[in-house]
Amino acid sequence: MQDLPKHLWHNLPEEDALAALKTDHHEGLSHDQVEERRRLFGANSISAQQGIHPFKRFLLQFHNPLIYILLVAVGVTFLLAEYIDSAVILAVVLANAIIGFVQEAKAEEAINSLKSMLSSEATVIRDGQRQTVQATELVPGDIVLLASGDKVPADMRLFKCRDLQVDESALTGESVAVQKERTQLEQDTVLADRINMAFAGTLATYGSGAGVVIATGDDTETGKIADMISQAVSLDTPLTQKIKAFSRILLIVILALAAITFGVGLLHGQTWVDTFIAAVALSVAAIPEGLPAVVTITLAIGVRRMALRNAIIRKLPAVETLGSTTIICSDKTGTLTENQMTVQKIMAGGRLYEVSGSGYQPEGELRTQDDHTLQPDTVPEPLHQCLLTGLLCNDSRVLEAEGQWHVEGDPTEGALITSAQKAGLDRSELERKHQRLDTIPFESDRQYMATLHRYTDDAHIMLIKGSLEQVLARCQDALDSAGKASALDSETITKTADQFADQGLRVLAFAARTVPTDTADLNSLEQTENEPVLTFLGLQAMIDPPREEAIQAVATCQKAGIDVKMITGDHALTARAIAGQIGIRNPDPEGGERQVLTGRQLEQMTDHELLDAAERVSVFARVAPEQKLKLVTALQAHRHVVAMTGDGVNDAPALKKADIGVAMGIAGTEVSKEAADMVLTDDNFATIEAAVEEGRTVFDNLVKFITWILPTNLGQGLVIMVAILISATLPVLPVQALWLNMTTAVFLGLMLAFEPREAGIMTRPPRSPDSPILSGEMIGRIVSVSTLLLIGAFSLFQWAQALGESNEVARTLAVTLFVVVQSVFLLNCRSLTVSLFRTPAFSNPWIWGGIATMLLVQLAYIYTPVMNTLFQSAPLTPLHWAIMLAYGALVLLLIEGEKALWRHHKNRNAESGKVE
Ligand code: ADP
Ligand code: MG
Repeated sequence: MQDLPKHLWHNLPEEDALAALKTDHHEGLSHDQVEERRRLFGANSISAQQGIHPFKRFLLQFHNPLIYILLVAVGVTFLLAEYIDSAVILAVVLANAIIGFVQEAKAEEAINSLKSMLSSEATVIRDGQRQTVQATELVPGDIVLLASGDKVPADMRLFKCRDLQVDESALTGESVAVQKERTQLEQDTVLADRINMAFAGTLATYGSGAGVVIATGDDTETGKIADMISQAVSLDTPLTQKIKAFSRILLIVILALAAITFGVGLLHGQTWVDTFIAAVALSVAAIPEGLPAVVTITLAIGVRRMALRNAIIRKLPAVETLGSTTIICSDKTGTLTENQMTVQKIMAGGRLYEVSGSGYQPEGELRTQDDHTLQPDTVPEPLHQCLLTGLLCNDSRVLEAEGQWHVEGDPTEGALITSAQKAGLDRSELERKHQRLDTIPFESDRQYMATLHRYTDDAHIMLIKGSLEQVLARCQDALDSAGKASALDSETITKTADQFADQGLRVLAFAARTVPTDTADLNSLEQTENEPVLTFLGLQAMIDPPREEAIQAVATCQKAGIDVKMITGDHALTARAIAGQIGIRNPDPEGGERQVLTGRQLEQMTDHELLDAAERVSVFARVAPEQKLKLVTALQAHRHVVAMTGDGVNDAPALKKADIGVAMGIAGTEVSKEAADMVLTDDNFATIEAAVEEGRTVFDNLVKFITWILPTNLGQGLVIMVAILISATLPVLPVQALWLNMTTAVFLGLMLAFEPREAGIMTRPPRSPDSPILSGEMIGRIVSVSTLLLIGAFSLFQWAQALGESNEVARTLAVTLFVVVQSVFLLNCRSLTVSLFRTPAFSNPWIWGGIATMLLVQLAYIYTPVMNTLFQSAPLTPLHWAIMLAYGALVLLLIEGEKALWRHHKNRNAESGKVE
């Protein structure tokens, strides 16, 4: 095996390909073969480095207009022979770039590592058994089964294709899916035309197939070009773009102000050098250098927090958008319900049966209506047929591990296995007796699954299970209680199914037909809708209890002004019953609190009616994936921010269209995960609610940070401008402004990113994505604090000068006052509305750590000779400290007072609103 022959696999006959790989398409590889090959070929993963080269990313840190100004300042101070200044500014620019670079790399890594948490799986045949394994564990020679929705896990030569279509755009750029076929191709067939091959990383979008793995990991076609595919995650979000736009405007304003400063300075008769330094000081002071980096870090922290709550973010903007979600459209099965299916009722041969027991454990009894327990040998023929169909027309397995029974595959199918076992049917014996010859797998669009089996020597049997509508449409007669084919009584059957569904049970119907071996072909089923040929066998109805957490989460969403809608492929009555249990209501009770719309009804609506219905109704049943897309579109037309879940291949367009596409980590197809913005690792609705909560927190913390940081810049800008206007000595030098901006942003401001969510976060309405980041109230607060900074720093500076202190001391006072005031304002900003005295003091220990660190570095700035030389700072006296701390306390109280006024004002408004 070591020297895996370099065959042109597409050119080999199937048998030769299998032989070359020493494998067999029925048996697959043996356990030992797999072990040996894994040692030889390693894991099936791509090792190549991806993304932008680190050096380029480092350089990109300087690609920022605000940094340009600083670089100019470096050059000019150098020309003016102010070498220390020049070096310090340069050092700060470099430090800024390094911090930005490291943080960006970390954020990117955080998001990339989430991707690897979403490992994909593959269905293989090994030791003659169908099994699910991690895609990374595949080896050459493995037999892999592909179904629509799968990501092709390795390069394969196909030997089975049932309408298999593969989206190869990741590899070839061609967006139209390629139809795959069993065939042998010419040697020189180009990659895009190798229709008997499937390549790693491409997506099976339709049909099913099987093939043998011919290359894994770096040897795959994708592996070979991995260097070329840039998988870099984008760190851009609507907010970072707004901030970029804001920075550009700010730049122009600052340059204009600097020019005015320069002019005024000259008019006042100051020297060129002094006025120039003043202009540079102004620019440097007014630029919020730390802003972009902290925003990215805050978003990355949000991503991590969401991951801890089982929501994996695939696209960074989702973190922000989540906070503005106004509608969540959720699947029912598995998301709102447990997906723990247990068959409770059966109808077969016109008779009803009850099934006892819970979970997948095959322990329980089948009882007739007159409370007669059935023994394996007294199971009536029609019931036997119904259970047999559920057992054989089934791709899942029920397993016991450590005393726990669970399903591998689809829970709906698991329930059918358990119910058959309770009646004493032996699956492996029956599967041997009725070997499966062909399969049409279940798909939501189709709503049924069919299989073909050997039955007798001269007949095969077609088995089908699915929704009642689909199965009934294909039936011409039904088994009666004696097991004889007789007239089909659709009305009674439908009524029984409705009764089951009304109790919230999920109903599956079963039918079968024997066919002569020579005409047996499943494909004919697709057309039987108009030409019914099957014999109806019965119904099985299973309970799927709602998730407790989902009930809670739905209530929380409703309080938070978020409307929850259920969109399901299940029956309207089942959907309605479950919606009732979970507390999903139509937003407008007058529209009929319990109204449910079905996919068929949606289909018949005009666009206008659909727009209206999408908003008014909350439960949609028997919905096909294309209709999900229509619903999202309609809701977005009402300017809603829509989160939409989906798991199937055909859900991908709706997931892409939704503001937040949500895929299921466990039950979802790879195709849906690729299309999603967020993946739930636990498939749980409550996780969406948790993510919304985190999204709101992230946005809150960003607003807190921005409200906190801007006064530093505005305050310094004002101090410098006033000094120039009245022709006084500059209270803050350029390097000092840089010191202040960098240290406070990193040690103080950043800590707001760790603020836990505020108590009332899920009782207020969603934030409109169009609303400005800063409310008028916040702008007012920024201006007030800036003014307080101006008054404090300027008077302190003037006071020191009046006392005859050196410029160094006076400037150190001004700078330290900023540090003190920004430290206390940081406490104010922990909540923008709630009183500081009601915010738990230690709920965010980072704040205190940050303030302590800031104090230490500031002490170094004031008292160490090195810093005194670099920054022209000087030691302060205890009296200085006393004054500054007193001023800090005053600011703290003033801002809290202002907050209290606002709260009072709002409460009054709210109350008078009620009276009206
Ligand atoms: P949802 O996941 O929203 O409940 P599905 O699209 O999975 O809806 O199922 C729609 C209908 O298809 C179900 O009501 C059931 O009758 C039928 N069905 C579901 N799963 C299977 C399956 N594995 N095989 C056959 N029929 C199924
Ligand atoms: Mg489903």
